[in-house]
Amino acid sequence: MIIVTRKGVTAEELDHIRERVESYGLRTHVSRGEERTIIGCVGDEEALRHVPLLSIPGVEAVHEVLKPYKLASREFAAEPTRVPLRDAELGGRALVVIAGPCSVEGREMLEATAHRVQAAGARALRGGAFKPRTSPYSFRGLGEEGLRILADVRAETGLPVVTEVMDTRQVELVASYADVLQIGARNMQNFNLLTEVGRLQRPVLLKRGMAATIKDLLLAAEYVMSQGNPHVILCERGIRTFGTETRNTFDLAAIPVLKRETHLPVIADPSHAGGRRHLVAPLSYAAVAAGADGLMVEVHPDPATATSDGDQSLDFDEFDAMMSGLAAFAEAAGRTLPRAAMIAG
Ligand code: PEP
Ligand code: MN
Repeated sequence: MIIVTRKGVTAEELDHIRERVESYGLRTHVSRGEERTIIGCVGDEEALRHVPLLSIPGVEAVHEVLKPYKLASREFAAEPTRVPLRDAELGGRALVVIAGPCSVEGREMLEATAHRVQAAGARALRGGAFKPRTSPYSFRGLGEEGLRILADVRAETGLPVVTEVMDTRQVELVASYADVLQIGARNMQNFNLLTEVGRLQRPVLLKRGMAATIKDLLLAAEYVMSQGNPHVILCERGIRTFGTETRNTFDLAAIPVLKRETHLPVIADPSHAGGRRHLVAPLSYAAVAAGADGLMVEVHPDPATATSDGDQSLDFDEFDAMMSGLAAFAEAAGRTLPRAAMIAG
């Protein structure tokens, strides 16, 4: 249930409305916009069904939330959510590009990648230290050593780092290094893990499961938010269909659908969606045209030798070219794309 208050509602009226709602056992969450203040009511809506809420002073309108997700729903917040990323933020006008290798393979390769992607305009560095691999015999990441390298490269460049946490037992460790906790596609419905990262205030990058509906994704976000962590970034990374020409099927329409359904920032991962290097630039441009707030792109100094996802990783020159091409799409979408010179200045 969402209560929209009258313009100019007083603090006393607001308190009174909240007290009334809370007296029926629901929790309230206030979102203040420039024009309006909105009170989200979480809990058993049934208990409020016969309460004459419209008669309470200060109430203008009452909307039933039929959607199963509340905290994540567009109506719940007066403004789009902006997730802080050190000096940057995701969800504002600036398009945020997160780039880096699929896996942290060593210090030198991560340093080289960080410097090059930063110079091209990336605002955050990605890299997996704990890797979910389909085969147990594939490279599964450097573990804590990878996290240490990420933190060192952050200290050197100032780039916030995004890295995956796969297990509830690793949350504390990964959070002690990472700026953003990535929940991978395979873990999108690991409800214990979602609950655990929800207990922190650290931003969470939630990737869409490969067989997840948009509603499933929003309910996964709701898990995190219901624990008190409002900093969730949603990521469309392709879903499984019957096609074989691409690794996954990029669900482009999911971006405008999500932007309509939720106030949370939405980004796209063209690397996992396409699975082929030549698809990364066109899918990135399409995502931005469709309204994405950012992109996450895999970049490797020498993709041919990458321990994971080499076929979909861009080399440095390809990333530069992709970023140059992106500028026009960002502008057409009403976005700013900060250039490296501006970041340094
Ligand atoms: C990744 O980002 O490297 C990754 C494993 O992604 P996903 O969970 O989307 O497959
Ligand atoms: Mn990958």
